[in-house]
Amino acid sequence: MAGSKRDYYEILGVPKNASEDEIKKAYRKLAMKYHPDRNEGDKTAEAKFKEAKEAYEMLSDAEKRSAYDQYGHAGVDPNMRGAGGPGAEGFGGFAEAFGDIFGDIFGQGGGGARGGRGGGRQVYRGSDLSYAMEVTLEEAATGKEAQIRIPSWEGCDTCHGSGAKPGTQAKTCTTCNGQGVVQMRQGFFSVQQTCPHCRGSGKIIPEPCPTCHGQGRVKKQKTLEVKIPAGIDDGMRIRSAGNGEPGTNGGPPGDLYIEIRLKKHEIFERDGDDLHCVVPISITRAALGGEIEVPTLAGKAAIDIPEGTQPGKQFRLRGKGIKGVRSSYPGDLYCHIAVETPVKLTEHQRKLLRELDESLKKGGAKHSPGEESWADKLKGFFSA
Ligand SMILES: [Zn+2]
Ligand SMILES: [Zn+2]
Repeated sequence: MAGSKRDYYEILGVPKNASEDEIKKAYRKLAMKYHPDRNEGDKTAEAKFKEAKEAYEMLSDAEKRSAYDQYGHAGVDPNMRGAGGPGAEGFGGFAEAFGDIFGDIFGQGGGGARGGRGGGRQVYRGSDLSYAMEVTLEEAATGKEAQIRIPSWEGCDTCHGSGAKPGTQAKTCTTCNGQGVVQMRQGFFSVQQTCPHCRGSGKIIPEPCPTCHGQGRVKKQKTLEVKIPAGIDDGMRIRSAGNGEPGTNGGPPGDLYIEIRLKKHEIFERDGDDLHCVVPISITRAALGGEIEVPTLAGKAAIDIPEGTQPGKQFRLRGKGIKGVRSSYPGDLYCHIAVETPVKLTEHQRKLLRELDESLKKGGAKHSPGEESWADKLKGFFSA
């Protein structure tokens, strides 16, 4: 195999960086010397000619040459067989690197023969599974241990994993002789394809087990303990290795991805590590100032509202946000003040407000700084 073959460059007697022309010239020289027409009956000459011809055909084709440069004989060897001994370049790596070439040949671009080979049969890694998990803001902030139910596969009790109906047996696939793969030839490339008859298992089950329909395993449910780290945020994924779908023909299982969905909170809105909330206060509280109570994830806190607080004013409570998964410090809590206009007034309250209004007017614009500048802007606007 690969190890016993001579290097193509060596055969032609050219350096690795030889130009197309140099390769052509070197080949012509050897062809003239060893051509069977000129060396009738000479087996050594014939072998040398074949060797040179193969070397030339490989190195004169840019694609094949690059494959050979990267993978040696295993990359282009016309006699290559997939089930290589130790040290031989596995077929998988080559097929992956040249996915576009083989995709063209077989029209199966993209499809994943991932995970390498085993036992001469095509081995596939199991698919990844994804699980959406809703968490509350409080759970996201503190982290939690969760139990989730996920699908799992267990050996079928009826057929004991063989997939064949009890009393019958699986037969070796005659298309691939149990290899699970078939050889396809495309010019100088000899490539393997999963046996279309047995789909790579190497076996045909004439009478499938009625319980598992020939799968040899049945889908069940299992409970999985999952640790949700503190600070997790919407859209983050937690990988649970090996808890995806099982592999095919002994391939490794896929992974399970737990995707976090953050539930909407009644009070807080999250923005990264920061939290925001709207705190409604009365018009009198805004005017007179005073201490108000605000919620935080850790309980109640107090803010001192200064006299004359305007709507939309923010108060920041440092460190009262969330400590993100990768953050060193927690974020902040922003309280946005919403001043409420009183409604459903009694006659007495209306009277008081009118009195207040009279009193404020006497004081002029100093009581409503916003109104003063607004009036100025309007004046400018209408006189323009
Ligand atoms: Zn079964
Ligand atoms: Zn087969």
